[in-house]
Parts: sequence; C-alpha cells; structure tokens
Amino acid sequence: GSRSYSFMIRTKNPCGKVSNQLYLTMDDLADQFGIGTLRLTTRQTFQLHGVLKKDLKTVMGTIIRNMGSTLGACGDLNRNVLAPAAPLVRKDYLLAQETAENIAALLSPQSGFYYDIWVDGEKFLSSEPPEVVQARNDNSHGTNFPDSPEPIYGTQFLPRKFKIAVTVPTDNSVDILTNDIGVVVVTDEVGEPQGFNIYVGGGMGRTHRMETTFPRLAEPLGYVPKEDILYAVKAIVVTQRENGRRDDRKYSRMKYLISSWGIEKFKSVAEQYYGKKFEPFRVLPEWEFKSYLGWHEQGDGKLFYGLHVDNGRIGGKMKKTLREVIEKYNLNVRITPNQNIILTDVRAAWKRPITTTLAQAGLLQPRYVDPLNITAMACPAFPLCPLAITEAERGIPNILKRIRAVFDKVGLRYSQSVVVRITGCPNGCARPYMAELGLVGDGPNSYQIWLGGNTKQTSLARSFMDKVKLHDLEKVLEPLFYYWKQRRQSKESFGDFTNRIGFDKLKEHVEKWEGP
Ligand code: SF4
Repeated sequence: GSRSYSFMIRTKNPCGKVSNQLYLTMDDLADQFGIGTLRLTTRQTFQLHGVLKKDLKTVMGTIIRNMGSTLGACGDLNRNVLAPAAPLVRKDYLLAQETAENIAALLSPQSGFYYDIWVDGEKFLSSEPPEVVQARNDNSHGTNFPDSPEPIYGTQFLPRKFKIAVTVPTDNSVDILTNDIGVVVVTDEVGEPQGFNIYVGGGMGRTHRMETTFPRLAEPLGYVPKEDILYAVKAIVVTQRENGRRDDRKYSRMKYLISSWGIEKFKSVAEQYYGKKFEPFRVLPEWEFKSYLGWHEQGDGKLFYGLHVDNGRIGGKMKKTLREVIEKYNLNVRITPNQNIILTDVRAAWKRPITTTLAQAGLLQPRYVDPLNITAMACPAFPLCPLAITEAERGIPNILKRIRAVFDKVGLRYSQSVVVRITGCPNGCARPYMAELGLVGDGPNSYQIWLGGNTKQTSLARSFMDKVKLHDLEKVLEPLFYYWKQRRQSKESFGDFTNRIGFDKLKEHVEKWEGP
C-alpha cells in the first residue's frame, strides 16, 4: 500500500517556539499532505505523518519558506534543543531560551546540501548571532578541531543522535537529566545570570534482553561562566565525536562513553578541547515539574494559556478551535516537552473571548481532562513508527481509563495521580524510564513494567516485570495501587513508595494478591 512510501517529517523549533505563520502553515499542510492531524513531540517540535514521496519537496519547501526548519531534526547529529516553553519575561528564562537557540545554531550542519534539495539552492536561514559563528570557527580554545566545512562535526558527523536541553533552576519541564547535555542557568542573589551548570551523559534508549544497554541519568560535569557556554558545548560534542563508539550503534550514545570512562576522565578529555578547567558545579535548589497549564502572567502585562493536548495529537475540534484562536488574535505559540501547547502574548482584553471559545469547544482546563492524562505520554508506535513492537499512542486512552477504574476500585481519590508513560519499543521516545509507571512494549500486546521514577523527573525507574499481557494489567496494577493506598506515608507519591518498599516485596505482594 501507499503506507510504505509515506514519510514522517519533523521540524526543528528550539525552545518549542513556533511563529503564527508557521503554525498556520503546519495546520494547512496536515490537511493537504498529511493525515489531517498535527502531532507535538516530546522534543518540542511538530511531526507530520503520512506525507507521500511525491509531495515531500513541496512540503519541505513550504515549511522552510515559512521559517520552520527541519534541518537537524533526524540523523546522527544534534536534535532539537529543549528549553522551558513558558514565555516568562524573566532574565533566567530569557537566557535559557536564547542559549537553546544559540546552541541549536552552533550545532547546525554547515553544508548546503540540505537546502539544495528542498528549495533549489535558495537559502532561507536567518543570520546567526556573531558569537555563534565565532564559537563555531574559533579553534584557539582547545586542540584537535578539524579544518573542514564542518568545524564541529568533521567529516563523519557524530556516532549517534545527540540531545541537549537548557533550563533554569527548579524548572524541570524539560526532563533535563535525560539529555546528552543538560545546561542550567545559574544566577546571583539578585537574579542576574552568571553562568551555567552542565550535566552530561543522560539518555533513554536501550535494547531488550541486553543488560549492557540501559537508560541513564545525566550527571554533573561542572560550571562555566556565561560567555563560555558555546565553547563548553562544542568541547563536549567533539569529545563524543572523537571517542564515542562507532562500531556498534547500540553503544554509540555519549552515555556509554561516560559510563565506561567515568566522569573524571571524560571531564579531563573535554577540558583539552575546551582549553580550560570546568569550575565546580554550583549547588541549586530541588527540581520541580512545571506544566504551565491554564492562564498565567508573562510579566510584561500580557498573558499566556497552556492547553493540555493528549499525546500531543491535535485533531478534530481541537485543531479547528486552535486554528481559529491562533489566526484571529495572530498568536505565536510554543510547544512544551510534554507535548502541550502554549498560546502566548495574549492581551488582557482577549482573555475572556478566548476562554469562551475554548469552553465552547470543551477544551477548558481542568475539567475536560483526567489528572492522569495531564502527566501521561505515549510515543506514536503503531501504525506510524517502523520500530514499534506494540501499541502506545492508540492504546494509552484506554489504559488510562483502566488505571482510573483501578484507582476507583481500591479507593484512591480522583485528584490522585501517577506519571504514566508508554512506548511501543525500548527506544523510549516518550521517556518511560523516568515514569512512576512506565510501560515499554516487549512483545505483541505485552509490556515490560518500569517503576520508581518520580513526579520531578529526577529518579530513574527500574524494570519491575517483563511480558505483562495488556489484558492482565489489572493483575499487577490493582495489588500495587492497593498496597500504595494502604501503606503510603503521608502524601508519598507512587514512585517514592515503590522505591521505599523495594521491588522484591512489591513482587511478593503482587503474586499473593487475592483482591482487596
Ligand atoms: Fe517508535 Fe519505539 Fe520511539 Fe515508540 S519508542 S516512537 S515505537 S522508536
């Protein structure tokens, strides 16, 4: 059928920033050339599924002409750079977003082939900030940068895809520890940004039945002054380019290099490219998960509205209503790393009519969405992803309903929630290894169950059970949730509870279960 000749296109939008013009363009393209829906991804980009080969050039050309790039959205190079999507007018947020954009520009491939293909050699890139150009080309800082048209990637690019997120202290809306590089703005007492903490070596992907592949949290590397951040990022990327494994793609992410070398060796090698020592990591407050849903002040007199989108899939009435609002008020939008959308720069006078329009479409927070759905994520899986072993996006609505039914049965309140993430294969695109309850496809209609992540996304889940059949989920979840309800310490989250009790004891409880 035509399916095998259809393509998926991913855009590149640092910090999830999407101009009004690009949103309207993507909305049109989804109808004309896609499957009639837009999908927001966990990396703050759009994915357009179902584009036919004959339409590829038209679609890519249209996206690029409307200032949305797809350059570097796939392949063995840096992927979209995450940053908090909230349009807060605050020095630290603005610097995080600017830094994400600069890092994205720094690590864009320099050769012209990409543009030649899609828009007949016409260039549509906006000009880069001078500090980015300088950092890319200046080799005086360290050693061993290739003299080539690709000063950072060299001739062979990176061993594998590479992921970077930037954020501010406490705001873990970006799942900072799941990235190859995590960058955190550090401010002084009066809120003036001074520099950045850098984490390295996070990553989600793994392979079933290979214990030598694993999800990993990024760990602290050190601190750099504000003006050095692009040089530090360049040094880390080049360390991976030169030393990451290229003989086996299963082990080629930077997390395996760091885990085999240890952080001290990695640091000293990266310092040779950086040309300086990394300073000690600064102590920062605890992470929190921020959803930005509902109405908020931007800090410049304008407002923003965060709308929950189940699995990032915008279709039907939601698509029509969003288009209407975004077009009428000429709004720019942002995509969050949790696949939600933020309407930005809303004037106070528009709040009421927009609220009314959303309410009429049944989209008003918080009533239309179960608390379980707010933090839940699933990857596309069947029928859109060739690597899928089992369902994720198509299966999650029903799975969440079943979890809600178990909650009701064991007497857990409606407001109670757990972070649920589901993927169709161990690649882990929806970051299931950070979930309180992660389901990772491991066979037809069966899942590996992961427990032990937390709501702040700072703890790595561990695998709890294999090959749990979809229709047997309650046999595992009912005893677990009942146990949690009975034995939790005050307000203890499900993730913290499962870690405190220990998996052996939990398993025993599940096996002996005969009903509440
Ligand atoms: Fe595809 Fe696997 Fe990623 Fe899901 S987790 S989108 S099935 S590669």
